[in-house]
Order: sequence, then C-alpha cells, then structure tokens
Amino acid sequence: MDAMKTATPLLAPRPMTAQLGLDAIMKNAPIGILFTRQSLLVQANEQCAAIFGYTVEELVGRQAVVLYPSEKDYESLGVIASSPLMAGELFQTDYEMQRKDGCRVWCRLRGRAINPQHVVDGTLWTIEDITEERLITQALENRTHELTAIFESQAMGVAIIRESRIVRSNQRWEALRRMVAELSGDQSEDLFFPDSGMYDRLQQFASLQFQLGLVFSTEQKYLHDDGRSSWLRMVGTAFDAAHPKAGAVWMLEDITDRRLAEETLRDARDILESRVQERTKELESVVVQLQQEISERIRAERNVWEIAHHDSLTGLPNRMLLHDRLEQVLASGQRNNHQAAVMFLDLDHFKKINDTLGHAIGDELLKQVAQRLTGVVRAVDTVSRIGGDEFVILLHEISSVGDALLVAEKILAVLEPTIMIEKYSLQVTPSIGISIYPDDASDALVLMKNADAAMYHAKDAGRNTFRLYSSKMDEQASRFFAIEQRLQQAIKTGQMVLHYQPLIDWGSRTVCGMEALVRWNDPVHGLIMPSDFISIAEETGLIVPLGEWVLAEALRQNHLWQEAGRLVVPISVNLSPRQFRQPGLADTVRRILLETGQPANFLELEITESSLMHDAHETISILDELAALGVRIAIDDFGTGYSSLSYLKRFHVHKLKIDQSFVCDVTTDSDDVAIVTAVVGLAESMGLETIAEGVERLDQLNALIRLGCHKFQGYLFSRSLPAEAADSIFSPAIPQGMQQHISF
Ligand code: C2E
Ligand code: MG
Ligand code: MG
Repeated sequence: MDAMKTATPLLAPRPMTAQLGLDAIMKNAPIGILFTRQSLLVQANEQCAAIFGYTVEELVGRQAVVLYPSEKDYESLGVIASSPLMAGELFQTDYEMQRKDGCRVWCRLRGRAINPQHVVDGTLWTIEDITEERLITQALENRTHELTAIFESQAMGVAIIRESRIVRSNQRWEALRRMVAELSGDQSEDLFFPDSGMYDRLQQFASLQFQLGLVFSTEQKYLHDDGRSSWLRMVGTAFDAAHPKAGAVWMLEDITDRRLAEETLRDARDILESRVQERTKELESVVVQLQQEISERIRAERNVWEIAHHDSLTGLPNRMLLHDRLEQVLASGQRNNHQAAVMFLDLDHFKKINDTLGHAIGDELLKQVAQRLTGVVRAVDTVSRIGGDEFVILLHEISSVGDALLVAEKILAVLEPTIMIEKYSLQVTPSIGISIYPDDASDALVLMKNADAAMYHAKDAGRNTFRLYSSKMDEQASRFFAIEQRLQQAIKTGQMVLHYQPLIDWGSRTVCGMEALVRWNDPVHGLIMPSDFISIAEETGLIVPLGEWVLAEALRQNHLWQEAGRLVVPISVNLSPRQFRQPGLADTVRRILLETGQPANFLELEITESSLMHDAHETISILDELAALGVRIAIDDFGTGYSSLSYLKRFHVHKLKIDQSFVCDVTTDSDDVAIVTAVVGLAESMGLETIAEGVERLDQLNALIRLGCHKFQGYLFSRSLPAEAADSIFSPAIPQGMQQHISF
C-alpha cells in the first residue's frame, strides 16, 4: 500500500447533483468502496465499513494499515500494487486483511489510481469479502491436493476413462500398462486384455454393469517370456450410471502375489484333496471290506442262531426258541392282559413206526407232521419240536380256552388223513395236553410241565385225543412222586416180593417153566401190582436195582426149589426196556448166575417185542452177548409191536410169547385167529417155541390147541403165587374134563 501513500490527493468536491449521485452509488453499491490517499482512509461506503466491522465514521480518517494484519502485510501489498497503479492499470488481488475485532478477512481488492502520473492523488478501491469463497476454494484446493496425493501415491494404478479414452491416469497405471505393452509388444489401450475379442466382451459387460450401478471387476493373467505369470485386477466404477459419457474410474492392481499364493494354496489344496480322495477311496474299500466282514459275521451269527434255535430236521423252532417265545408271550400277556395256550403234543406209537420202518421213514413222517401242524395255526403262533416225536404249540394270544380246544380239534383232524411215505401209507395220531396262561400257571416252566402232564392224561385216555390241564393232574403227579419215594424205600427195606406163575407144556402135560412176577408188599396199601409201579420204576431208573434184585431172587428161589427136589425148570424173568439197554447187562447176568450157582440155560429172559424193536442193531448185539452166556430169550407180548421179520430173523431168541390180547378173543375174533396162526407158523418156520399167555378158559385152550399152540400160561392153570405156595404152583389146576389126559 506504499503505492497508496503516493496516491493522488482527495477528489475535488463535485457539483451538488454529481455529489448526490455519488452518494447514492456509495450507499447502494453491493460492494465495498474505499478511497485512500497517502495511507489514509479518506472515504468509505457502509458496505466497506461493514466488511471490516467499523462504522463509516470510525473508518474514515484512519491509517489504511489498520485494515491489515500487520505493517508488513500492508507494505507487501503496496509493493505489488504500485507498479500497476502507476501504469494506470487496474490492480486486482485477493488479500488477507483484518477486521476491527482482529479477525482476518479475505478480500478481493480492485484498485485504480485516480491519477496514475501522480498516485498521491489517491486510489479508489472496490472491496469484496471473499472469506467464504476463499474458505471453499481453500477446502477444494486442499481436497484436490489430497486427491492428487492419493491418486499418485496409489499402490494401485488409477485412471479416469471417458468414452474409451484415458483422461487421466497415475504413474502406477502407466507402469502397469507399460508392463503389459512390453509383454504384448503393442501399445494400444485395450492391452490389459489378452485379446481384443475379450476386450470387447468385457467392455460390453462392464458398461452393462455400469448401467445397473454396479462395480465391474475382472482379473487377467499375463504370461512373461520366462514362463512367469502376472495377474492384474481391474475394477471399474462409473461416475454416473445414468450418464455413461461421464466416464468411469478404473483401478488396476497387481495381484500376482495374491494369485500365486492362491494358486499355491489351491495346488496344496488339490494335492490335499487328491490325497484325501485317495485315502477316502482306501478307507471306502476298507469300509466295504469291513461291512462285508460284518455282514458275513452277522450272517454267520444268524446261521449259528438259526441252527441253535431250530430243529434241523423240521426247521421248526426248538426248545430254546420255544422258551424265548413263551417268555415273550407271557410278558405281553401280562402287559395286555390276554390269555395264551401251551399245547404239548406227542405222536402215539411213533417209536414203533421208527423202529420197524427205519429212521428215514420216521424222519420224513415228522417233517410231514410238522408241515400239517404249521398249517393249522396262525402265523403268529409257534409250532416247535422239542425232541423225538414231541411238539409244543404255543398259541400266542387266545380270547378263551375254547380257542385252544378248537386248535386241538383241528390238529386231530389235520393228522387224520394217512401220510404216504414211499410205499407206506401211515396213520399217525397225537395225544395233546393243553395248559392255559394265566389260569393254569403264569410261569413258563410250570405251564410246560402242566401241558406235559395233561398230555399223559390224553395218552391214558386212549390217545388220539386232547386234555386240558387240571389241578387234579398235579395231585396225580405228586402221587407219582410219592410212589417213587416209597418205592425207593421199599426196594431198600425188602418190601418187594416175587410171585410165580407156571408155564405149561400141553404136549407133555408138565410144568415147563416158572415166570417170576414182582409185587410190592406195602405195609399200608397191601400188595401192589407191577402195573402200578413198574412204569414209575422204569421212568425213574429204579428199575435197574429192582431188576437186579428180581433176577437174583428168582434164581435163588429156583435154586432152593431144585434143592428141595422140585421139578427142575427154567425160571423166566421179565426185563424192562431200560434194563435191557442198561450197559453191562450181560456182565450183571453172568455175575448173578455165578452168585446163585444157576446154570445159564435155567434162566429165560422175557423182553417185550416193542423193547426189542427199538434200535434193532443195538438189540442184536445185546442179544448176542446174552446168548453167548447161554441164557434163553423169550419175546414177551408178541404181536403187539411192529416186528420187522428181517430183524426177527437176526435176533438170537428162543421163544415167542403170544400176547394175551390175542388169546382173549381167539374163540370169537377171526383176526386174532389169523394172528395166532401166523405167529405159530412164523415160529415154526424159524425154529422158535411159542407159548400163549393169559389163557383163562377152556374154549380158549381148545382153540389155541387147534391153532397149533402147545404151551400155555394163564389163570386156567394157575394164578401167580408166592414161593411158599410151591405145592400149588408146581401142581397147577387142570381144566375140567381134561384132567384125565394130563399128568405132571
Ligand atoms: P407179563 O410179563 O406179560 O406177565 C404176565 C402178566 O399177565 C402178569 O401180570 C400175570 O399175572 C398176568 N396173567 C397171567 N395169566 C393171566 C390170565 O390168565 N389172565 C390175565 N388177565 N392175566 C394173566 P402181572 O404180574 O400183573 O405183571 C404185569 C406185567 O408187569 C408183566 O407182564 C410184566 O411185563 C411186568 N412185570 C412183572 N414183574 C416184573 C419184573 O419183575 N420185572 C419187570 N421188568 N417187569 C415185570
Ligand atoms: Mg412176562
Ligand atoms: Mg406178557
């Protein structure tokens, strides 16, 4: 403002009208107007005073320097303004000045010397407060600087592209572009893409993205000559989606390291993946193998289970599985409050079929019976085979006892038709015992035992029938048990006695033998007959000691008779099936013969036909052993069993005792006549003796004589008597009217 110091003097007064016009200008001008002369503020309008925070009166007359922050600022302005002012030019500058309150104010100063040749005349200034504009501009500049700094310092290449032309780009962009250009030997702008086709496609796609207001992004790979590869990532953002021509900002980033890291990672992952796949395959095959092994094991276990729980012949559940099922049925019966039935079934006389026709036929018969039984019950019920010819049928749920009886009737009906096996037509009947849950018992074993007991009652009732268990059966069973106990005691304490019955040789009219028949002389019940205890002794095994006693006692008695001068005859002793098969029988017999001093041919062993036919092979060897001792063998109750003639021929026997059941009606029943005739004929042809048992009447005797029988046993001659009655036994009664022919 030194220039102002040399400015022209104050303006000369103007005529009134001009003065008024000037005043009006000063007052209304929308801009500050100031007139300075020689460093003094000579005149100012209100706008000017307001800019600096003064009133016009306060301002006028002051030193111009008050409007500057410092003397130095004032002088600096003077330096730059003086030459244009002196040249008569308009001086214009934006300058920071100071308000009355000390605050800075940016002003746009325009000044012109009133008289350039004589600047001390003063200078006229217009002043605009541009502080605000200045602040905005400053801020914009700062922003521009910042952006430029950012733009240039980018680790990324940045370019502004407008209508496919690069308007601006930073160094990094150019560097990357050069790199790509070097690689391709081409300098064109679209070189960021491996080929122009791709460039077109991507550009199309990019402009589409821009239109949608989206950011476009792509990653491209570039191959170096040395085999290296570089990766660039391009990201484009349109300035204004609505105006494509406004251009877009693009950023280029060298992502080689990242991609390489990713590739390495991917490779590692691929290797890992393939290893995992390999291992997975290995594992899969191991798993498959394991699964196979497991299923084989399960199959094997199931097989073992099947075998362990089923009867191999019929395929039916066996005793073990039956018990499992029975337990289940009882548990569910208890839960659901329903009834169930256990049916114990035994085939009548099955053993005879098995013994006479052979095991193969017997097995086939059991299979067919199993099939028929399975057909009469529901699928939920259980038909099991628990041994030999014993079946147990479990009716899982019944609504009443009637259901079980109905099934029993069905079983009888289904087994009625004959069963054809090979050339044999076989008739098989069952005996069935039934026990009901929970009426008869709630325990599996007791239910089975009760059904078993009921089955024996069905047998006793004549077979081919069924019986429901009743508590009376228990009483009988306990009676059986009591008898067993007492019998054991009886054998020990000598309550057993032998009675003797003579055998008569009609031809010579002599007693030709003596059969020993055991009785139990019970102190309370009196004389008990063998039919009441032999079967119990047989079942319990007591028959073995009892049988030994009988044998020894009979031989001892015969010895006594011989010593007493009685007729010397062989003594017949009965052997039960169990005794007959007792190991060491021949040794026992030999020992007792020795002990009693009796020759072997004075002993005749009576064995029932059915007992012999059970396991014919074993029978042959036992009979051979006994024959080797010199003992005689008679087949007792002959005609009641199913003798196989081929076996009979091979049995070492001496006598057939025709069963009393054929003798009984031999006078009236032509069948019996036929049987007796056949037996006599058979014996003759085989060189065996025959004797008819149970001859009670004369007509029977006559009939038998006519049929070729010559030896007899029966009440007609003598009942069985104790040894003390020897006189009577050795002199049996002679039939009336035939006495004269008989001599003893
Ligand atoms: P068994 O060996 O067939 O004996 C014949 C049975 O018929 C005897 O009955 C005998 O008393 C009876 N009896 C004889 N003549 C007549 C007759 O004219 N009419 C009738 N109705 N019966 C007659 P017992 O003594 O009751 O013996 C029955 C069965 O008990 C015997 O039949 C035999 O199988 C068995 N037994 C008897 N004693 C023994 C023994 O010491 N050991 C074995 N294991 N069984 C024996
Ligand atoms: Mg006998
Ligand atoms: Mg007999």
